Amino acid sequence: QAKEDGRNRLRLYEPGLQQRLLEGTVLETALRRALTNDELRLVYQPQFDARDPKRLVGAEALLRWEDPEMGPISPGQFIPVAEKSDLITELGRRVVALLCEQVGAWQAAGLTPPPISFNVSPKDFREARFTSGLLQAMAQHGITANQLQVEFTEGTLTDRSDIVFREIQALQEAGVDLAIDDFGTGYSSLENLKRLPLAELKIDKTFVDGLGDNEHDEAIARASLAMAQAFGLRTVAEGVETPSQLAWLQAHGCDRIQGFLLARPLEAEDFRAMLHNTDTAA
Ligand code: C2E
Ligand code: MG
Ligand code: MG
Ligand code: MG
Repeated sequence: QAKEDGRNRLRLYEPGLQQRLLEGTVLETALRRALTNDELRLVYQPQFDARDPKRLVGAEALLRWEDPEMGPISPGQFIPVAEKSDLITELGRRVVALLCEQVGAWQAAGLTPPPISFNVSPKDFREARFTSGLLQAMAQHGITANQLQVEFTEGTLTDRSDIVFREIQALQEAGVDLAIDDFGTGYSSLENLKRLPLAELKIDKTFVDGLGDNEHDEAIARASLAMAQAFGLRTVAEGVETPSQLAWLQAHGCDRIQGFLLARPLEAEDFRAMLHNTDTAA
């Protein structure tokens, strides 16, 4: 049976085929089509004040893609593919456009969303004019710098750091806050971090997972919080899933909480409903 149908057919029965499809050009082609057909959208994960976890203080915009045939594909799968091709630049521009359009629309409806963070890939920073493109989109939708925040990871700093630092500086001068994402999982030197005009440090889920029962994760989280405090940075814990993780973070002075315990990433309509029902940050 399958064997006799030849090589191509046989492959369809191999386990992990979809995985391999997703890694290669199939995914790249589909993503290109998704950009053309406008199949990407943003969801919004609320962030809460650790001292008062009912108080909405921010959100992170996260990309979602549903392919008509393959179904939902996670950013963990398609962002690396985009980063290996030229697609990441277009993807980055699309995120900026979608976010500015959305925040502009909420604003026009009389709502006051808290500052919303979005993720920027290293390559976006290395292409010059990222900042001017962002500022242009903001102006077009009547959005001020304090309504957005840019997240980037330590990997952003590994090469072309002259251009990266220039872009980062330009963002800061324009008044856009900067957050270092997934802190502790990359290779950036503390020396590099010291040079950055950061506003926020995000403690990665990898470490948050162990809070309350893994002393090494706790040591890393404690050190990260202490360093952030010394540098005057706001701290956000991401991937908070349990009450004991929340309690640990509260006891150790973390400022903000993001995680499934308090809220999953929400569709725009659902996040909008939250803006009606919650006191947003002043
Ligand atoms: P990230 O920036 O660190 O985003 C946080 C990720 O953790 C999100 O995954 C979010 O859904 C997930 N998360 C939050 N709380 C919890 C929790 O309590 N439990 C669990 N299990 N997960 C939680 P997501 O949306 O799948 O995104 C994965 C990564 O893809 C992001 O990590 C970011 O690096 C990248 N990404 C997402 N959207 C964009 C985008 O617009 N542009 C770029 N360049 N990268 C993006
Ligand atoms: Mg992020
Ligand atoms: Mg993160
Ligand atoms: Mg992460």
